[in-house]
Amino acid sequence: MTDAGLDGTHVDVLIVGAGFAGLGMGIRLARRGMTDFLILERGSDVGGTWRDNTYPGVACDIPSHLYSFSFRQKPDWSRVFAPGAEIQEYLRECAREEGLLPHLRLSTAVTNMRWAHDRWIVETGAGTVSARVVVMAAGRLSEPRLPEVDGLDTFTGDAFHCARWDHGARLDGRRVGVVGTGSSALQLVPQLAGRASELVVFQRSAAWVVPRGDRQYTEAERRLFALDPEVLDDSRSRYFWTGEEAFAQRIDAGRRAALETVARQHLDGQVADPVLRAALTPDYEIGCKRVVISDDFYPALSMPGVRLEASSLARLDRGTAVAASGERYELDALVFATGFESTQPAYAPLVTGRDGVRLSERWSDGMTSYASTAVHGFPNLFILDGPNASLGHNSAIFMIEAQIDHVLGALAHLADAGASALEPSAEAEAAYTARIDELAGSTVWLNGGCTSWYVDERSRRLTLLWPDFAHAFREANGTFRPEAYEQVTADRNGRKNKSSAWSHDDQAL
Ligand code: NAP
Repeated sequence: MTDAGLDGTHVDVLIVGAGFAGLGMGIRLARRGMTDFLILERGSDVGGTWRDNTYPGVACDIPSHLYSFSFRQKPDWSRVFAPGAEIQEYLRECAREEGLLPHLRLSTAVTNMRWAHDRWIVETGAGTVSARVVVMAAGRLSEPRLPEVDGLDTFTGDAFHCARWDHGARLDGRRVGVVGTGSSALQLVPQLAGRASELVVFQRSAAWVVPRGDRQYTEAERRLFALDPEVLDDSRSRYFWTGEEAFAQRIDAGRRAALETVARQHLDGQVADPVLRAALTPDYEIGCKRVVISDDFYPALSMPGVRLEASSLARLDRGTAVAASGERYELDALVFATGFESTQPAYAPLVTGRDGVRLSERWSDGMTSYASTAVHGFPNLFILDGPNASLGHNSAIFMIEAQIDHVLGALAHLADAGASALEPSAEAEAAYTARIDELAGSTVWLNGGCTSWYVDERSRRLTLLWPDFAHAFREANGTFRPEAYEQVTADRNGRKNKSSAWSHDDQAL
């Protein structure tokens, strides 16, 4: 919808971001009959990840029956792993059909927000809005990361990150480099392999790859899913518990060894050349980084004109890419599939809490929270997809839905208690953080011999991933627990009363 200017607007709940998390929050509010909320979205469309990632081959690596809202299931996904455009269309349909369009402000980026007495003052490119509660749903893989490569600005060809695909760039019949071998690169490389005259894949670390097993759903299956919701529920449930089994593989050495056997057999079965096979064999424990599912990456590397460079991109010199190995490649285009700024979210420097501290300062040693959803010192702020809310083994949407339930519980509590503000106590946050550190301590993510976007490079703490089963996340965090929070209420004379630990900061209120 077009923007009418936000200056002077006050809303009860302000949601930042219109991807899966922000839309999910909006839908749940709307379905409860709430009307006093806004969703701000910096992009020109809803969809988040699925709006931004339009590279060839983009698809979900969690089955779509599970990678969709439990409260808005879709029986007619075309494939087990739906292509990105289909997921994007699902999200647009959710926004439209759930009545969110009047609440949406597109192309409206938050530039600053601060807690002032009993509300958030949020500055945006379209004016200043105040809100009693802010739900930050700005994503964790939304800021592309480019590697620090000498001479990047001298490169004479087309160069772009895969999450900002340049659809105008000419790649057919040209010499193309792809930097990275994570989930994005492994989807992209097979698509480019048949198009580029020469394709070089710069691999700094090899990925563990297991079979994907994607297929189209037949017309009959899709009709059955539509006719009988129980069949769809069963499918969803089966995928969920397969995902939970994958978590058991991460924490159990025996199961991890079995998974590694599957990956090694996959490599052996798809790559005949022993030298290439050796180059593609990871030197860290399986599960340390995200295990990638692909049936076409290895075959693509054996296609004519495709070359694996088993070292990182070190330097660019006009049209020449120089690898750490010293190999030089003349390239017309370069695609960076080099990941995202995950550990230091771009919104954190924009948020100032009740005692004047910025969220980025509060997180200078890595993200912490209570329930992966709220932060001491930041009243009435709830963060979806934030600290320790990611998964490497199951659906992100399941986690988001648990967090949404937590927020809905908090909103209900604010109303029931007649409170104006809530924030987790320092003790609750410290205990939660200690529990995360304890769970993470012995895991493959911290001890598997790799670097990954799950771990904060400053503290070496696991700050992105939830180190337990997904259903344990819901049990721990899907319910709002008032005892973990401090609150502010006003008495009949309008005087504010704070519960225990908040009193050290009276003047800030
Ligand atoms: P990523 O997993 O962070 O991978 C980035 C890759 O770039 C790594 O292989 C990294 O190497 C490499 N790299 C960085 N600098 C380099 C350099 N100078 N030279 C060579 N390589 C370099 O990023 P991603 O692939 O975009 O995936 C991020 C996450 O997004 C995934 O884990 C997944 O959760 C999600 N994702 C999901 C899907 C899906 O659902 N289908 C698709 C794409 C992404 P190192 O490993 O050595 O650091």
